[in-house]
Amino acid sequence: MFKPSSLISHPPLLITLISLFSVFVTSSQPLDSIARSYVHLVLSLGKHDPDLVDAYYGPSEWMADAERQAPSAPEIGRQARELLNAVTSMQPPKDTMGRLRHEYLRKQLIALHARADFVQGTKLKFDDESRVMFDAVAPTYSEAHFAALLKELEAALPGKEPLLDRLEGFRTRFLIPRDKLDTVFAAAIAECRRRTREHIAIPSEESFAVEFVTGKPWSGYNWYQGNSRSIIQVNVDLPITIDRAVDLAAHEGYPGHHVYNALLEQHLVREKRWMEFSVYMLFSPQSLIAEGSANYGIDVVLPGKERIAFEQRVLFPLAGLDPNTAEQYYKIQSITAKLAFAHNEAARGFLNGTIDRAQAIRLLTTYALMSLPRAEQRTRFIERYRSYVINYNYGQELVKTYVESNGGTSDNPDRRWEVFKDLLSSPRLPSGLMKN
Ligand SMILES: [Zn+2]
Repeated sequence: MFKPSSLISHPPLLITLISLFSVFVTSSQPLDSIARSYVHLVLSLGKHDPDLVDAYYGPSEWMADAERQAPSAPEIGRQARELLNAVTSMQPPKDTMGRLRHEYLRKQLIALHARADFVQGTKLKFDDESRVMFDAVAPTYSEAHFAALLKELEAALPGKEPLLDRLEGFRTRFLIPRDKLDTVFAAAIAECRRRTREHIAIPSEESFAVEFVTGKPWSGYNWYQGNSRSIIQVNVDLPITIDRAVDLAAHEGYPGHHVYNALLEQHLVREKRWMEFSVYMLFSPQSLIAEGSANYGIDVVLPGKERIAFEQRVLFPLAGLDPNTAEQYYKIQSITAKLAFAHNEAARGFLNGTIDRAQAIRLLTTYALMSLPRAEQRTRFIERYRSYVINYNYGQELVKTYVESNGGTSDNPDRRWEVFKDLLSSPRLPSGLMKN
């Protein structure tokens, strides 16, 4: 977690690039130069936008340069546009990884340019924003779609009270007591790490620390530190149900954000010296891959029945919960998970101005079945992170479809790990998932 300051300015760079193009059109040299300029611009925009730089572990002088002299946001936008034009006019490399890198830089620069505009006050419509910032447009679902899913839940949780009250009453039977959070999370992390290591070679020096925090608009956050180290923060503002242990251990840690960042650092930054990966720009297509793979990774590391068996054997007893209730809990969870796309509808309407905050909260409590405090927390998240919300649900769907259409189906777990690992080690972006 850090707040970068200013910018480096690079007047001679583009001139150098232009002269290089004529000689080394197929060499990676121009891309390397563009990549360095991209990093400087991201660090610089971070001075104007404290949420932008999620992680940076490149040369400390680059950060110091950015701290020292920051161009204005309009100037950063202008330089991003120039770099984008330079990338677009280049012949993409012939090899797959080179081609993916070229496309990655192009899309990340589009997002950087859009975020520079945002910092200056430009607010795009929800779908327009997600297209330029996250390289994807999430499908729209009507209230009738969610109403049909709620019927399924009505049948699984019969009773006279309103459905949300029934669900909340049900959930309170599955809370992890505050004094057991540490132990339960540690056990979930150990199991996810053990299983992930069986399939993915993670650098041996990797480590991962957990902190419990309050007063945040998110429920968990991975702050990648470089050198395969992460700090994971878990927000304990609201009660934590038992499913969050494996969800957060897998999503933030293994094989989620921590592993994704460690693999990018190992394969792209250290082995290839592709420095654009030393900075993680939050409002960018990379985040859809990060959140989508972190969510899908939960099913990869502990699929269905294996998860329930592990929780019955280990987590439920540690949390003081009855293991015999685990199956019913996850049956209900599997239905409520399908309501995740309702978050996009609340965010789309709220950010487009077609509904107000109270209506967004109503959508979240009615169709996503969130408790009132959680729906309020979610609207604060939406205000701050905006169309980022699609990265979780639509991202998960895109990653799942990509992995499965490449042979990584649930009946072929080894292949699933392989495709998943390759995705985490490559510069593939959302539109690239759709192409296959
Ligand atoms: Zn995440």
